[in-house]
Amino acid sequence: MTDNIDELERKLSKIKQTKPRRLVMDVLRDAEKPLSAVQILAEIEKTGEQIWLSTIYRILDLFVEKDIAIKSTLLDQDQAVYGLNQYQHTHYAVCIGCHRIITMDNCPIACDSFEPSLREDGFRITGHKIELYGYCSECDKKR
Ligand SMILES: [Zn+2]
Ligand SMILES: [Zn+2]
Repeated sequence: MTDNIDELERKLSKIKQTKPRRLVMDVLRDAEKPLSAVQILAEIEKTGEQIWLSTIYRILDLFVEKDIAIKSTLLDQDQAVYGLNQYQHTHYAVCIGCHRIITMDNCPIACDSFEPSLREDGFRITGHKIELYGYCSECDKKR
């Protein structure tokens, strides 16, 4: 984890630090799960700071471009959530009912016995994405 944080600091040092960027960064750093731009805005407003939603989107686009943050579209494009790149290897399950995001503590691909069976040779894997969908226990009860 420490290495990832150093790496993140290195990437951050390459972009100009502005107050809005720092505000967004602070929220992402404290977040335990990826957040949407609207949720980030709400967190910033809690601290009494003012920022436009469009500014947050611009900053998030920059962070994604610079590899500082990861954008995931768990349910659809409108529900994009952003997390720092240090959480890249965390997977999530998303509830179709209430859109709650639940962190997955393991990764099926990270286990040693996993052998991808690809229909083409010589493919060098550099990453993967796993997103689980379903119903949380609360929503499942209502069904
Ligand atoms: Zn739910
Ligand atoms: Zn994984």
